[in-house]
Amino acid sequence: MRKLTADLLLPITSAPLQNAVVITDDQGKILAIDQRENHDPASLEVHRGVITPGFINAHCHLELSHMKGVAPTGTGLLPFLKTVVNHRHVPQEQIDAAIEQGDREMWEAGIQAVGDICNKADTAATKRRSPIRYYSFVEMFDFLNDARAQQTFDGYYEVFAQQSDGNGDRKSCVPHAPYTVSPTLFQLINVANSRLAPNFLEHDYSKGRQFTISIHSQETPHEDQFFMDKTGDFVEFYKAFGIPIDHFQPIGHSSMFYTLEHLDMRPNVVFVHNTMTKPFDIKAANAWAGGMKGLFWCSCPNANLHIENRLPNYRYFIENEAIVCLGTDSLTSNWQLSILEEMKTIARYQSYVPFETLRRWATLTGARALGFEEDLGSIEVGKSPGLLLLDLGEDLRLKQNTKVKRLV
Ligand SMILES: [Zn+2]
Repeated sequence: MRKLTADLLLPITSAPLQNAVVITDDQGKILAIDQRENHDPASLEVHRGVITPGFINAHCHLELSHMKGVAPTGTGLLPFLKTVVNHRHVPQEQIDAAIEQGDREMWEAGIQAVGDICNKADTAATKRRSPIRYYSFVEMFDFLNDARAQQTFDGYYEVFAQQSDGNGDRKSCVPHAPYTVSPTLFQLINVANSRLAPNFLEHDYSKGRQFTISIHSQETPHEDQFFMDKTGDFVEFYKAFGIPIDHFQPIGHSSMFYTLEHLDMRPNVVFVHNTMTKPFDIKAANAWAGGMKGLFWCSCPNANLHIENRLPNYRYFIENEAIVCLGTDSLTSNWQLSILEEMKTIARYQSYVPFETLRRWATLTGARALGFEEDLGSIEVGKSPGLLLLDLGEDLRLKQNTKVKRLV
């Protein structure tokens, strides 16, 4: 048993507590939250700073860790994607070592669970050994080519079968992005996922959703242009890869409307990036899904700055009561894998977002998005959320030099 205490405790689901003690068993499960004066001082682990639950990284690509520093910053999404495609062929030992290191880096940075995009099975062995809980999203794309959808799906389904799903890990099939997934492939993904969930059609959604899917969405202005009237750099992108898109008909709306038309919205859905998302898109998704409860808007601010040199307008999400969570994206598009660093970036550039909101985005909302909220995301009796110490100082404000230390 351990008894941990610090200047302040942030349970997330309730108000901050002063002089509180968190009592855990040896596996980190919270047995009780109590007042300091009820305990023999010699039995306490006393820390200076603030105790928070472990962070949730709702969007990562651990298998791309070996490409750290390869892609130049500020080029925009399309040159970035070309760099990624051209640098996937490196020795397997190098890929494996970078995955191991990325996993360790995230654990040390206080990350308790990760929503991780996979195109291959490279990360499965690391995930089975890791103390981090993973939701592996096996990402599929057929470059809008309906005729190739089945073949594409079959290939990725083998990758899906190899993913880690023991020890609390989970997995599902997901579409990459609206601009790379045909209606036929969307349909194959929807059907495959519905088989994962028992009684999917009869499920009572007021009791929560059975699994989670994720999709990259509205990361660049070219994405909406492509769906609006088939202009912008995606036309050039397809030409450069020699992939015909003559059959593609623009829909006269943003890419969000294409996603909503084809994606099954009954699971939890995590929209990733949302840099160009407007209130109209948020409202449309909300209406389509029958309420915000299962919709999550994952922001990866450092990756957005790295690739596109722009950030989402967080006001749109706050004003529309959208549920935001945070992700690091991959080391290909970030300088580190740290949710604390994502919080600092938002605090620096859109400082109207209160710290109280940021710390929910970093913990509880991500846990809900991944369906891990029974164990993770807040300091409550019965959960095993991991416990972190932040050095916020006397004023309890997030600073650019704030550090995180894992306690549990
Ligand atoms: Zn991504």
